Amino acid sequence: MSNENASKSNTETKPKANTEEVIDSNVVALIEKKKKMKQSIEGAENTIREAKKSIKEIEKLLFRQCKHRWQYDYSCAFDDHTKHFCSTCGVWKNAYWYS
Ligand SMILES: [Zn+2]
Repeated sequence: MSNENASKSNTETKPKANTEEVIDSNVVALIEKKKKMKQSIEGAENTIREAKKSIKEIEKLLFRQCKHRWQYDYSCAFDDHTKHFCSTCGVWKNAYWYS
């Protein structure tokens, strides 16, 4: 009984070249695609970094400008120092974080 049931693709395979300088066009395409994906990750990470910075600035303003309604956060750990957040704007009751 053979266990070789692994599915093989039916796409035509080119004969393998033994010369090192010849790079398969499929491989070139994959490398190109990978490069583009990496660039897109970098762009996305930049966007995230900038957005986080903006949120920090906004939270600083909110901390000063909102008439907070502090609410106890029951989900926080017993040793968390900041246990209250504003139910209106969502900032934490910790001035150090927003200075
Ligand atoms: Zn608030």
